[in-house]
Amino acid sequence: MLSWPDRYMPPAPKEIIHPELNLLDSFQRRKIPLSGDEISIYVCGITPYDATHMGHAATYLTFDLVHRYLKASGKRVILVQNVTDIDDPLLERASKDRQDWSDLAQSQIELFREDMTSLSVLPPTAYRGVIEAIDEIIDLVSDFIKSGKGYQIDGDIYLDLAQVDGAISNLPLSPDQALQIFQERGGDPSRVGKRHPLDPLLWKARRGDDPFWPAPFGEGRPGWHIECTSIALKNLPRATVTSISLQAGGSDLMFPHHYMTGIQAKALTGIEFASCYAHTGMIGLNGEKMSKSKGNLVFISKLRHEGVSPAVIRIALLKQKYSIDRMWSEELIHEAEEFLAKILSALSRQEVAPALQVIQAMVKALADDLDTPKVFELLSSWCERTEGGEVGGSAGEISRALDTYLGIVL
Ligand code: ZN
Repeated sequence: MLSWPDRYMPPAPKEIIHPELNLLDSFQRRKIPLSGDEISIYVCGITPYDATHMGHAATYLTFDLVHRYLKASGKRVILVQNVTDIDDPLLERASKDRQDWSDLAQSQIELFREDMTSLSVLPPTAYRGVIEAIDEIIDLVSDFIKSGKGYQIDGDIYLDLAQVDGAISNLPLSPDQALQIFQERGGDPSRVGKRHPLDPLLWKARRGDDPFWPAPFGEGRPGWHIECTSIALKNLPRATVTSISLQAGGSDLMFPHHYMTGIQAKALTGIEFASCYAHTGMIGLNGEKMSKSKGNLVFISKLRHEGVSPAVIRIALLKQKYSIDRMWSEELIHEAEEFLAKILSALSRQEVAPALQVIQAMVKALADDLDTPKVFELLSSWCERTEGGEVGGSAGEISRALDTYLGIVL
């Protein structure tokens, strides 16, 4: 699938040393280094409706920082992102809005591309729609059936979790919580005939007017988690210790989506799926969760049309720690505008405070689980020292570092 245009990222100054990037793994609750010269990343993409709201933007900007840091440090990054262009929530939304599901998906994917381009997000190495990956998904479902790990109920195919080592015994939640969240996020724990209530759906048999594809095991369409397992395994180079370096997305994907994606991959390959699973916090508004039903979604395209600059949006979303749940507010835009004005004023001076030590400290903070609050503190302090008359630095170096590491293009 067409991604969005690549963009120039200034190289890091040669004096800068890049420590290994550590990210908090949500399952193990500890920081994991992204080691090796080649880093493979899978970022779960959008289901194309309600694009691009602030929660989406916070996620893709966060993993853009990861992409930028690794690239700046000289590593080869292969980043795959999907578009869930066939899925229950998309069909439900299209039917509710009396719109053709495929038209809805196409228009939202186009809007997402425009938003990512305007926000200077580096494009993925491969951008894959589920529909274009259907054959690959069918292959994997066939493998599950052949190995006896997949079983059928009225044409629907499920994975038998009991046959995957640790899948049930190592759940990241208590069994009751797991069942509740599984149900809330599209699962069907009470389906009669399931061997275990949490067994994930691999293939949904054709129903009514829903779109379907032919497969050797019957017409239908893929289950949610197998889409990402398949796109990740088929489009990322496979390493030996774990299949990929990093699986990433919003914290609402942690369970069951990322858990099941990992279990399915392990069932197919025999090794753990990702070395690290990192998740971004949820973005709310005025003390509430943002959602279409509450009518309080804030969209990137709306802010852009109101004239809010992409640099301001990036600052506003990146100033706080990526992993915490947080609130969006107009105040964040004002604060970001003030910060930008401060940076521009310092950069316009003939002499500026020394830059390289600040950039090195920024890099160290980013390497420590993307400590962006610290990064913005360092930049503010550099502005103050510059305004206070400190000299000996290069404005160009700071300006380029803002682009390289933070994607802030002045
Ligand atoms: Zn996914």
